[in-house]
Amino acid sequence: MERSIETVFRGSPEHWVGNGFHVSNYFPSATDFEKRMSPFFLLDYQKPERYAPTARKRGVGTHPHRGFETVTVAYQGSIAHRDSAGHGGIIGPGEAQWMTAGAGVLHNEYHEESFAKAGGVLHMIQIWVNLPRRHKRTPAKYQDITREAVAETPVDGGKGLVRVLSGAYEDLKGPASTFTPAHMLDLRLKPGARVRLPTPKDYNTALLVLQGRVKAGGRKAAEAGEFILFKNDGDEVHAEALDDSIALFLSGAPIEEPLVHYGPFVMNTVDEINEAIEDFNAGKFGSLKD
Ligand code: MN
Repeated sequence: MERSIETVFRGSPEHWVGNGFHVSNYFPSATDFEKRMSPFFLLDYQKPERYAPTARKRGVGTHPHRGFETVTVAYQGSIAHRDSAGHGGIIGPGEAQWMTAGAGVLHNEYHEESFAKAGGVLHMIQIWVNLPRRHKRTPAKYQDITREAVAETPVDGGKGLVRVLSGAYEDLKGPASTFTPAHMLDLRLKPGARVRLPTPKDYNTALLVLQGRVKAGGRKAAEAGEFILFKNDGDEVHAEALDDSIALFLSGAPIEEPLVHYGPFVMNTVDEINEAIEDFNAGKFGSLKD
C-alpha cells in the first residue's frame, strides 16, 4: 500500500559550518521530529552554491564526535576527510562517506585542496545516523563509498536510476554496513520517471528533493529543497519526477531509546554527555592536526 504524506517542509535559513559549508538544517526542527525520523538524527543540506577559488583551507577544523555516525554525500564538488583513527578520504560527486564516530573520534572536513584552489559549485548533504545504546561505544570506523561501489539499477525503462548507498532497493544491496537497518537511496530521475520504493511499515521514511520537482504520496509535486515526511501507513512510496530530478530517499528502523544531544555528542543520558565532554577535555579522543 502506498504511503501518504504527513508533512512537507523546508529547512532552516542557512548557517555556516566552519567557513566551507553553508547549510540549511532540516531536523530536529519540529516537535517529536527526532522520534519521527529516527535513526536519522540530523540533516544539513548545502544547496548548489559557487565558491570562489582560494589558496586557504575551507571547511571545518578538527572537532570531536561520539555516539553516532556521520554520513556525507557529495553531488557536486569534493570534500576531504581526516580523522584521529587514521582514516582519510576524498568524497567526489556521486560518492559518500560513512563515518562511525562510535566511542569517539576527532575529525576535520575541508573542501578538497584542488577543488578549493579551482573554486566551483559545492552541493552536498550530511546526515547523522544515531547508534543504539549497545553500539554507541563501538570503535571508530570509516567507509569510503566510491562511485564504483554504489549499487545502482535503472528503473522505469531507463528513465530513472536508483543508486543504493546503504540498505537495499528490492534485491540490490548497498555497500555501507549499518548498525541498524537504514536505507539511503540516491534517486536520479528524468521527467516522467516513476519509481516504487519499498519501505517496511514501521520504518520512518522521507524524501528530500534536491533538484527538479517530484510528486509523491498522492499530492502535488515537492520542489527542490522540500522535505517530505511520510506517514507510517504503508509499505511503499510512489514517486514520479516532473523534471530532471535528484532526490534522497531515507528509510530506517527507529531506535526506541532515550536520546540526549549536546553539540557533537549524541548519547542516551545526560551523564554520558558529561562523560563525553570530560573525555574530550582529557584528550581521550586522540589527536589530529588541522
Ligand atoms: Mn563533523
